[in-house]
Amino acid sequence: MPHVVTQACCADASCVYACPVNCIHPTPDEPDFLTSEMLYIDPATCVDCGACVSACPVGAIVPGHRIEPQDERYLEINAAHYEEIAESPVRFPVDAKLRLPLAPISKPKPIEVPGGGDVRIAIVGSGPSAMYAADELLRHPNVHVTMYERLDKPFGLARYGVAPDHLSTLKVMALFDEMARSSRLDILLGSEVGRDLALDDLRRDFHGVIYAGGAKTDRRLDIPGIDLENVASATEFVGWYNGHPDFAGRVFDLSHRRVVVIGNGNVALDVARILTSDPEDLASTSISPTALAALRNSNVEEVLVVARRGAADAAFTLPELVGLADRGANVTVDPELLTSVGSPEDPTIAAKLEILAELSQRTPRSGPVIRFGFLRSPQEIVADADGSASGVTFGINRVDPLRGGVEPTGESETVEASLVLTSIGYKGVEVPGLPFDGERGVIPNAGGRVVDGDTPMTGVYVTGWIKRGPSGFIGTNKSDSAETVAQLRTDLEAGLLSVPTTPKRRRLLSR
Ligand code: NAP
Repeated sequence: MPHVVTQACCADASCVYACPVNCIHPTPDEPDFLTSEMLYIDPATCVDCGACVSACPVGAIVPGHRIEPQDERYLEINAAHYEEIAESPVRFPVDAKLRLPLAPISKPKPIEVPGGGDVRIAIVGSGPSAMYAADELLRHPNVHVTMYERLDKPFGLARYGVAPDHLSTLKVMALFDEMARSSRLDILLGSEVGRDLALDDLRRDFHGVIYAGGAKTDRRLDIPGIDLENVASATEFVGWYNGHPDFAGRVFDLSHRRVVVIGNGNVALDVARILTSDPEDLASTSISPTALAALRNSNVEEVLVVARRGAADAAFTLPELVGLADRGANVTVDPELLTSVGSPEDPTIAAKLEILAELSQRTPRSGPVIRFGFLRSPQEIVADADGSASGVTFGINRVDPLRGGVEPTGESETVEASLVLTSIGYKGVEVPGLPFDGERGVIPNAGGRVVDGDTPMTGVYVTGWIKRGPSGFIGTNKSDSAETVAQLRTDLEAGLLSVPTTPKRRRLLSR
């Protein structure tokens, strides 16, 4: 259901630039911008992504399926603007007409269940995939969702996984807050499935259960020395600086000059950026006060972000690299490490290599610096006399020009470091009562339907990282959850799910 601009529209046009499909008009460069009384969303081309909701400074945009009765008129007002464009070839240029085809707004439809009536769905977790699943379900006016969150604050990785200096990304929580306002969504905080209630309770009390517990832990790097003092995972470090209650008590030794981060995905970049940022720039963010105090006392001068493969295979994404390079981070890389296999055809890889080459020519400023290392496989974490990490031994690799991958040279080097953070990806953990693929750290499923071997588990679904593995961005969960909800809806309408036998239970609701 398309989004709709309502009364509070301030026409500052932030939403126009946030919209990925150019469906909000008039834009500031169109003739009627200065005379228009508000902006309008074209229902025919809106992809319902919610980007405009985050961008709007006054909360004037709402998803059509959650529009309040007093604002229903705006559905028509928005659509009518585009009818006017279609019918006024004199006032509007032809290309605008072509760009803005019309389509009727579809009314939200109840999910038809055998016997009729309301549908009750439980969602375990309240992170991005859970919120997008709830939002998808609540498009149907007869659906009620109860969400179970073990922590005392909702939104999972959107709250505890996003770096505090990524202020734009953090705005997604405003979108989730907006979703959480629905009177048909209960978020039960401090409720842990498996501790406070069993999965079987939910299967009995609801038509369906969606497990959206995420990837709760990190992949373990199995090398000698991994259990030494001052070796930790990026997951723990991120949780610590974001004030995650599970990691609040952690202590990270920032008293020495170098930190080594193993792995070079976006999480490694987040960690490196936070360790090298001016703490005063972080002071106004949501960073935990404990972490801020530790960073203010930090002696770290270099964060070495090391990958086993070459620069052309870097796991970080281009926008994150651009963010590092162009937003004042102090970053460097040894030009000799920028060996790649010929000229990459992929424009994204080519752009990354270009930026890395540019960084290799920059003279680092004084102050903490991020240094990229490539073609180094971690072999061992070495200890000092007290049994604490003092360095990492890396096997040195070279690019194999024939096969395109890397191969060991047989040489190694040891880099001094008194804090080592492994950042080699998150991993899902097994959930009692559900099948589990230990290798991939996911719950086996077919498009979101949990399957045990070849047999679907009636009424149990999965979404997010525990469904597909730890990849993608917060917004990736929207389509992922839509797929899961589509399966659930199909099963409901086919009468495959049991009707709950117990009355709807309401537990303490706090948000
Ligand atoms: P990731 O992108 O999967 O990166 C994992 C890194 O660990 C890679 O460099 C990988 O190297 C390395 N690695 C894996 N096993 C290793 C081993 N045994 N020895 C040495 N290195 C090893 O994981 P992530 O950084 O945790 O990110 C997870 C997801 O969250 C990604 O989709 C990411 O984009 C997303 N995320 C996005 C943002 C953002 O947009 N700002 C922020 C944080 C996270 P290989 O490539 O050689 O396997």
